[in-house]
Amino acid sequence: MLLWHVNSQLGGSFSELIRAIHHDGFFATLWAASGPYIFGSKIAWTIIGLFAALQLAFMKWLPGPTYLGPETTNGCVPVYKANGRLAYGLTLTLFFLGGFVFKWFRPGVVYDNFGDILGALNMTAVSLCVLLYVKGRLWPSGPDSVTSSNQIFDYFAGIELYPRLLGSDVKHFANSRFSMMAWALIPLCFASWQAEHYGHLSTSMLVCVALQLVYLTQFFYWETGYFRTMDIQHDRAGFYLIWGVLVWVPAVYTSPAMYLATHPVELGWPLAVGIFLVGAFFITAKNLANRQRVRVRRTDGHATVWGKPPLIIRTKYKNDNGEERESILLASGFWGVSRHFHYVGEVAGAFCWSVVGGFSHFAPFFYVTFLSILLIHRGFRDDEKCQKKYGAYWDEYRKLVPWRVLPGIC
Ligand code: NDP
Repeated sequence: MLLWHVNSQLGGSFSELIRAIHHDGFFATLWAASGPYIFGSKIAWTIIGLFAALQLAFMKWLPGPTYLGPETTNGCVPVYKANGRLAYGLTLTLFFLGGFVFKWFRPGVVYDNFGDILGALNMTAVSLCVLLYVKGRLWPSGPDSVTSSNQIFDYFAGIELYPRLLGSDVKHFANSRFSMMAWALIPLCFASWQAEHYGHLSTSMLVCVALQLVYLTQFFYWETGYFRTMDIQHDRAGFYLIWGVLVWVPAVYTSPAMYLATHPVELGWPLAVGIFLVGAFFITAKNLANRQRVRVRRTDGHATVWGKPPLIIRTKYKNDNGEERESILLASGFWGVSRHFHYVGEVAGAFCWSVVGGFSHFAPFFYVTFLSILLIHRGFRDDEKCQKKYGAYWDEYRKLVPWRVLPGIC
C-alpha cells in the first residue's frame, strides 16, 4: 500500500514518504495510504472475481497432457494438467482483443483502481490462509501435512504441501495461474494507462513491459519446470507463500511499471534496444540453467551440457520415512559456475527492466533490491536444505563448486 502510495501519490519519491512519516507519524501515514482501500471496491472485486474465475476455468478445462511432479518424502506424486502455455496464450489474446480491438474493457481501469484491487487481494489472501489452516488441521488432502504446537507459526508457514480445493491444486492456481498470470497483465494495464494519459507509450515503458513479457512467456512455456522449484516442492501453503503470491507479487513485482506509468522516461532507441537485449539474454540464461538441471536428472545423467557429458555426483539420501533414494547433483554447465548461478540471471534481468526508469528515484529499484535480498537469503536456505539432505555428497559438490551465487564474490 505504501509502495502504491509512493508511486501514485508522491511522484515515486520515498523521501516524500519519509517526510510524511516524520510529520504525521507512521500509523497515520499508513492509514492515509491504505485506509480508503482496505475493503476494496465493487469494481476491484469484479475484476479479481472475473480474472480468477477465468483462470480457474482455463486450468481445469483447457486440454493438456498429465504431468507428474516430484515425489514427496511421503511417497506422494502431485498430478498436474500441463496446459499453462495454452492458458497464457489465450489470456493474452483475450486481453489484447478485449482491451484494444473490440474495446470490451479499458485496460487502464486497473491502474485507476489499483489501491482497491490490492485491498481486495489482501482480504482474499488472509481469508484463504485461514481456510487453508483449518482445512490442513481437519481435512488434509494427503499425508504431506505438518503441524506444530505453535498455531501462529502454522498459519504463517502453512500446514499442507499440496492442498486441494474445488478439485484443484491450490498452489498451482494461486502461484502460477493467478499470480504469475496477473503479473503478465498488470504492467500491460499500466502501460495502457500511460499511453492514454500522455498520448504515447514511452520507450522505457516499452522495454520494461517487453522484458517482463519475455520473462513470463518463458515461465509459462516451461510451467512444468516450476513444479520442481522450492516454492512448490518445499514451501507449504501458508501465509508466507500464499499472501506472497496473491498480494506481494501483484503489488511489488509490477512496481517498476507502476512508477513508469507517471514517469514516461524517454530512452534513445539504441539504448532501449541494448537494455532489452541484455535483459532478454540474462532471463534466457537463467531459464536455460533451470532446464539444464532438470534435463540431466530426467535423463539420469545421459544428456550433454554445453556440448560435453555432464560432470555429476550420484547421491543417496533418506526420505522422511527412512527409505533410501538416489539423485543427481550437476556440477558442470551453469551449475559448475556457482551453486545458484540462475539467481544472477534473475537479478540481472530484473535490473534491466528497472533501470529504464533512470536514477532520479529509488522507487523503480524497489523490486530488484527486494529480489536480491530474497535470493541471497534463498541461496543460504537452499544450501542448508541440501546439506541436510545430501550430507557428504553436498560437501563434495561444494568442493567442486565453491561459490554460492556470484563467482569470486559470494
Ligand atoms: P532451484 O530451482 O534452484 O531449486 C533448488 C533445488 O534444486 C535444490 O533444493 C535441490 O533440490 C536442487 N539442486 C540444487 N543444486 C543442484 C545441482 N547442482 N544439481 C541438481 N539439482 C540441484 O531453486 P528456486 O526454487 O529457488 O529457483 C527456481 C527459479 O525461480 C530460479 O530461476 C529462480 O531465479 C526463480 N525465483 C524467482 C523468484 C522471484 O521472486 N522472482 C524467487 C525465487 C526463485 P533437490 O531436493 O531436488 O535436490
